[in-house]
Amino acid sequence: MDGNLQQLLLYQQYDSKLLKLEKLSEKLRRDGELLLLRRSAAEEKLGLKVAALKNAQKELRLAELDLVELENSVKSLLRKRDWAKNFAQQVALDGEFAAAEARKIACEERVLAAVESCEVAAGEANSCKVELDSLDKTMELQRGLVVARCAELDGEKSAVKDMMLHLRNGIAKEWIGAYDCLRKSNLQPPYVARLDGFSCTGCHMRMASNHGGMGNSPRRRCEFCNRIIYEENDVDDVEEN
Ligand SMILES: [Zn+2]
Repeated sequence: MDGNLQQLLLYQQYDSKLLKLEKLSEKLRRDGELLLLRRSAAEEKLGLKVAALKNAQKELRLAELDLVELENSVKSLLRKRDWAKNFAQQVALDGEFAAAEARKIACEERVLAAVESCEVAAGEANSCKVELDSLDKTMELQRGLVVARCAELDGEKSAVKDMMLHLRNGIAKEWIGAYDCLRKSNLQPPYVARLDGFSCTGCHMRMASNHGGMGNSPRRRCEFCNRIIYEENDVDDVEEN
């Protein structure tokens, strides 16, 4: 049994714990960003719906003004027809009256359509407002929780880092140096992998031999992935995670 190997495996456990904590922090940060993005999208949508509502209200006002004008012109044509001097003039005024009446009916339909548009636009703007309010409430509720969780994670990370620093001091340079090198490479953890018979548990490739003759050494590597390898009976029980 080699004390360095044993300590390095322990160091590796803390290292992977640190990685998990960092991933949790990162996820927390990304979730917060997503929420902000959702909020600004909801705000933008609300702005568009409010603008649409204003347009619909403007169209309603214009249609109502036009209707008043058309109603007046229908009334004045009716009066004129009553005072017609002769039959020919009466027929001509009848024609004008029919045309004005048709325009009035068309305008009444325009007013109804505008009222409907206003209702639809108001409904849409309102549901956007509800969505935005609920997002604001969610964010407000989460803010405190996220701050607390971040602080908790920072505390855990710093405890793990302290432990790792402490462990490093007890590990020979040759071992910790080899570990650091592997960690800086593109390799995924573990950097120190147990041999399962002839197979590396890091890359799961089967080697021709387990390089048993080399004994315990940071130079004892998997020929496929270059991870430091060891055998189960090289160490006391080490929990793998
Ligand atoms: Zn391997």
